[in-house]
Amino acid sequence: MGDCIFCKIVSNKLPSHKVYEDENTLAFLDHNPVNPGHTLVIPKNHSRNLYEIEASDWQALMETTRMLSSRIKDGMSADGINIEMNNERPAGQVVFHSHVHIVPRIDDDGLRHWPGTPYKDGEPEKVVEKIKNLL
Ligand code: AMP
Ligand code: ZN
Repeated sequence: MGDCIFCKIVSNKLPSHKVYEDENTLAFLDHNPVNPGHTLVIPKNHSRNLYEIEASDWQALMETTRMLSSRIKDGMSADGINIEMNNERPAGQVVFHSHVHIVPRIDDDGLRHWPGTPYKDGEPEKVVEKIKNLL
């Protein structure tokens, strides 16, 4: 993809701090980290996000994410790890090449989780039906 910045990182047309690379995936430091060690894992093949990615690229992405997460946690002496993928603008996606964030977390680092609101009576059953109807 001609003007995709992550494709340019794959082809070394843009610089990055690479953490790991194999045949199908690449991992590099996010240049604006939540905490040091915040890493982006991407498939080398371009896809926009979760809705478009090939199953084989998804599997490779997940395996690299799994393998790197514990190393990043240990390497950064983190207390925990968040794995995140933003898909489309309302979900916070800014770069439209599939990527997973590995975010090392430190006790009391101040990053807040999203707020939750309990379901109303009868609502969970309707929600489950909407999803199950598509399976
Ligand atoms: P998202 O909101 O999930 O699309 O996240 C995109 C992430 O890419 C952000 O956290 C940016 O800081 C990061 N980012 C954008 N351009 C670069 C770059 N050239 N090198 C490293 N990280 C980048
Ligand atoms: Zn791309």
